Amino acid sequence: MIETRQITKRYGSFTAVDAISFKVEPGQVLGFLGPNGAGKSTTMKMVAGFLAPTSGSASVAGYDVQTHPLEAKRALGYLPEGAPSYGEMAVREFLGFIADVRGLRGEQRYQRIDDAVGRLHLERVLEQPIDTLSKGFKRRVGLAGAILHDPKVLILDEPTDGLDPNQKQEVRTLINSMARDKTIIISTHLLEEVHAVCSRAIIIAAGRILADATPAELEARSRYHQAVSLTATNLQQAKEALARVADIAAIEVDPQDNRITAFPKPGRAIFAAVGDALKAQGVVVRELALEAGRLDEVFRTITQGAAGQEART
Ligand code: ADP
Repeated sequence: MIETRQITKRYGSFTAVDAISFKVEPGQVLGFLGPNGAGKSTTMKMVAGFLAPTSGSASVAGYDVQTHPLEAKRALGYLPEGAPSYGEMAVREFLGFIADVRGLRGEQRYQRIDDAVGRLHLERVLEQPIDTLSKGFKRRVGLAGAILHDPKVLILDEPTDGLDPNQKQEVRTLINSMARDKTIIISTHLLEEVHAVCSRAIIIAAGRILADATPAELEARSRYHQAVSLTATNLQQAKEALARVADIAAIEVDPQDNRITAFPKPGRAIFAAVGDALKAQGVVVRELALEAGRLDEVFRTITQGAAGQEART
């Protein structure tokens, strides 16, 4: 449904997006992750046909966005970063305008607007000029515009930016509900969002793809993958018990809350053995958890090689 081939954007001698190739299949929600200035927005703009690549190409629903822009855009809803243009328009007027541009007529026009307004909870701001809305409402108006013609492909640049935690949750639920019959790319710098909505994540930095994997595969690269963390009433006693578990490679104690993290030797599972050792020593355990892995640590490890990024932005 979405494909890029060696897509590249240069500004003078500066390469913002460097030969990025990927495919997204129906039903997938692809998360675009990367530090500020990584090239996420630039890539999305090129896929959405709003920015011409310097070289390479992108297609949506089988149509090249440069050579068949009308067909590609018909299949596509795009939420650009920031607030919608036409800020002086009231929300109802704006959605009506988008519906006209999208060629919606009659009963279908009415129904689609009604559906988008309902999904994004815009009922009480319909008569308000977009410029006068809060950042969260502006974002929701933009999203309503993007989904208005019920496109097969959605490209959403930071869809939850500016929303409060409840609104973030609502938009994530909306994205999940649409994921069944659409192909979606979202960009985010929020790792929790990757967990919440993405079936796959591409990490980019300095315009290049550094990782392309499922969230679980990324977590498996974490140092914390399969580690066991615990808190106990008696720290020393707990450490002594852990010292008896042969498959533990290392132990760390967080000085803030005395939380112990035990790291397994490569390929070993230690959860059961840790539980047994603590019990055998009579340690009173307050919390005991098996770690899936920490995406923030994986993200840092993968992107820190692209140092100098800040200086370039
Ligand atoms: P992200 O969305 O990951 O934060 P962007 O795609 O917005 O990153 O930007 C990628 C890089 O391209 C940044 O270093 C940015 O400063 C640069 N850039 C973006 N647009 C332009 C432009 N019109 N002219 C020059 N440089 C640009």
